[in-house]
Amino acid sequence: METGEDPYFQERKRLVEQLVEEGVIKSEKVKEAMLRVPRHEFIWPNRLEQAYYDTPLPLGDTGQTISAPHMVAIMNELLEVRVGDRILEVGTGGGYHAATLAVLTCPGLDSPSPLVYTVEINHVLAEFAKKNFSRLGFDKVVNVIEGDGSKGYPEASPYDCIVVTAAAPSIPQPLIEQLKPDGRMVIPVQSRFFEQDLMLLKKDKNGRIKTSNMGPVVFVPLRGEYGF
Ligand code: SAH
Repeated sequence: METGEDPYFQERKRLVEQLVEEGVIKSEKVKEAMLRVPRHEFIWPNRLEQAYYDTPLPLGDTGQTISAPHMVAIMNELLEVRVGDRILEVGTGGGYHAATLAVLTCPGLDSPSPLVYTVEINHVLAEFAKKNFSRLGFDKVVNVIEGDGSKGYPEASPYDCIVVTAAAPSIPQPLIEQLKPDGRMVIPVQSRFFEQDLMLLKKDKNGRIKTSNMGPVVFVPLRGEYGF
């Protein structure tokens, strides 16, 4: 990630500055992570010229999309990631969001064991993301699991942060169980037909749950046992 030689660095910087001006990026650490991660490396080559538009983009012909940068920023701010946090992402897509989480929890990208576990149900995307992580040096910190993440990934639980990047019918109970006391979860949940709300769930140190509605959003549907 030599930003000096990255032909897209100026475009990325402009996008990040725009998100700061809009008040979407609030913290220095979220700003740094989005400046560092080359979004153009996580999208399909036919969309390269749109890599730094603030919009979701289709991931080849998989029917799935890479989230818009503002959505990644909003979710990362809500997650309040601290260095060393263990994180679960449900829905890897091309891996862009997970890469930003990797920078947040391990800025040196050199942790001796993975800290970000990301589950992807689509085989083509799981393979695409794995290749992206190893080519770009994220593979020490990020572990891709191919499977149904709607029931979480108990093998590496409990997590400080859980982020779901597809809309669920309701908050899956296994995800709540896999969250640590003091943990934060961000998940889009279907409210009415075609409407979704971004929910922030916090577990306090006694295990008590508090959920807040952060407003309307649009995500692809979550599949699997606790999905649609
Ligand atoms: N986090 C991605 C966004 C990907 S879109 C990014 O960085 O841009 C949501 C992804 O969730 C899709 O790739 C879809 O295949 C995946 N998905 C849907 N249901 C899933 C499930 N039950 N388990 C794991 N992944 C799922």
